[in-house]
Amino acid sequence: MQTFPCPFCGPRPETEFHFAGDLGNLRPEGFLEVSPETWSSYLFSHNNPRGESKEIWKHLTCMEVFTMNRDTLSHIVNSSTALLPEGEA
Ligand SMILES: [Zn+2]
Repeated sequence: MQTFPCPFCGPRPETEFHFAGDLGNLRPEGFLEVSPETWSSYLFSHNNPRGESKEIWKHLTCMEVFTMNRDTLSHIVNSSTALLPEGEA
């Protein structure tokens, strides 16, 4: 089993985490004006890169959300950083 580093709790088993999306995949603005195709792309299309990947994860034990940089080939986690509200970074 792989271990992921939570920035708040430290290394924990991967089963305690939930993938929350690609970093930078922003929600479309204009709720009523957005086409079904745009919503579908936002919700279901992911980058799935080969190699370095920047993703958003949630640790289900502490419920904190953070970014994780990892290599999808080697499974090496390069960093995990807390997501802070704007102005607190
Ligand atoms: Zn945690």
